[in-house]
Amino acid sequence: MKISESDETRFDLAIVGGGPAGLVAAAEAASHGLSVALIDERVTFGGQIFKQVGVGFSIVNEFALSAEQQRGANLIRSIENPLIFKLTSTTVLAIEDSAILVVESGHAASRIEFKRLLIAPGAYDRPVAFPGWTLPGVITAGGAQTLVKTQRVSPGERILFAGSGPLALAFPAQMKSYGANVVLTLESGRRPRATDLPALLGAIPGNIHLLKDAAKYRWELIKHRVPMRYQRMIIGVGGESKVEYAVHAKVDRNWHPIAGTEERIEVDTVCVGYGFFPSTELFRLAGCSLTYKENLGGFCVDVDAWGQTSVENIFAAGDGAGVEGVYVATLQAKLAAIKIAEELGKVSSSSAVDLASESREGIRRKRKFQQFLFRMYSVGVGIYEICDAETTICRCESIKKEKIDRAIDTTSDVSVVKALTRAGMGLCQGRNCQRQIASLISQRHGVDIADVPLATPRFPVKPVSLGSIADETVKEEKYFIEA
Ligand SMILES: Cc1cc2nc3c(=O)[nH]c(=O)nc-3n(C[C@H](O)[C@H](O)[C@H](O)COP(=O)(O)OP(=O)(O)OC[C@H]3O[C@@H](n4cnc5c(N)ncnc54)[C@H](O)[C@@H]3O)c2cc1C
Repeated sequence: MKISESDETRFDLAIVGGGPAGLVAAAEAASHGLSVALIDERVTFGGQIFKQVGVGFSIVNEFALSAEQQRGANLIRSIENPLIFKLTSTTVLAIEDSAILVVESGHAASRIEFKRLLIAPGAYDRPVAFPGWTLPGVITAGGAQTLVKTQRVSPGERILFAGSGPLALAFPAQMKSYGANVVLTLESGRRPRATDLPALLGAIPGNIHLLKDAAKYRWELIKHRVPMRYQRMIIGVGGESKVEYAVHAKVDRNWHPIAGTEERIEVDTVCVGYGFFPSTELFRLAGCSLTYKENLGGFCVDVDAWGQTSVENIFAAGDGAGVEGVYVATLQAKLAAIKIAEELGKVSSSSAVDLASESREGIRRKRKFQQFLFRMYSVGVGIYEICDAETTICRCESIKKEKIDRAIDTTSDVSVVKALTRAGMGLCQGRNCQRQIASLISQRHGVDIADVPLATPRFPVKPVSLGSIADETVKEEKYFIEA
């Protein structure tokens, strides 16, 4: 839906992101009588896990959809409330004075005023630079999942999946169930051991469904005879003009490849899924404080127990505030919506505490399970050390590692590397290269990665057509240049 001139553009609550977190927050806030603008840049709500089938498909039998798509469809139905103004295909570009959003929709920019803002922008695939990673045929796990889930298109004929963590089990199994030919799965972490059992047992209460999911995905791979090899990582791919083969190697506990263990496999597609980074651009642009939390994806916005950030009126929830998965995302979103309803006088303080108690208990249990996962799947630093001098680090501006290394000789500041080399100035605004550059700085200057801040974000946080934000005065004749 586009904003027309007649539309009311002032809301009690504006929500950036119509994934699980945004959807739950919108439904909860509206149930307390708040007017809500729910904004997502995609054509449909649902976010990552609940991606719906693409526009143009017609659903003959809803029960034939995946369980996640059905859950997503139910969640989307839950926002059928006249108090919720729904804006899809609308990108939030900036936040002004903690009171106004600048959005782009249909090649036009407009403003949305809010009393409170919930930023729930989710996360994106952790990019990993290795020799050959820019060849056609290398795809992120999320990209491949989007292809199979929303378009029913397989990314290739023979697929290698390389990654780590619970989703590195879920993704290849899901792809296989959609008919994609995954021939091998690599997990950089170690094989589960009997000594993990006590920690696992302690994490089970409230999480048995997660174990069932894991067993289902593992069975899917076994059933289709897809080997899963532990403590092995992709270290390069090769081919003339597209992927023809991949090389993987055994890794030590810090994910450093062990020389002599390299193996080659003929594939045309490599799916890379080493976890996610929270989308922090809007938080940084709004001036929210952040803290580095490796297990949650790197720099994460600081929030209190209700999701309030360090900036007045701005709340955070979901993977964008630290990658903790869909259950924590929705529980956090509910807490934020309750608090906002309280602040705007729709709920008493004591009711807010009562309404929040179940969500708090849910988060406590999910975090217990996460502790177990962190024990199994912490990302090793070796992942940032597999690129060589010739590897392209910034793919938007085609900047190779050797050029970045020369800049790092003179500075330990990501923003300065950006100014010297243009790395991070392209369309993705550093989402693909900044963490890699920060890691190179950390290695070279011997500083902790947590002490290497990301580059200063700039408006607009997402690519935008020039016409949307151009100064209208340029239409005046005096600005036209005579041919
Ligand atoms: C690629 C990917 C695939 C995943 N697949 C699975 C899976 O198969 N199983 C599983 O259990 N978990 C999966 N996860 C994790 C799970 O999706 C998340 O935990 C969950 O979706 C988090 O919900 P969220 O609402 O915080 O974020 P998301 O679901 O990511 O939703 C965020 C939404 O914000 C929108 N957005 C972001 N920035 C802007 C902006 N500037 N303007 C407008 N809109 C914006 C995005 O379009 C998106 O729809 C996946 C995560 C990712 C990143």
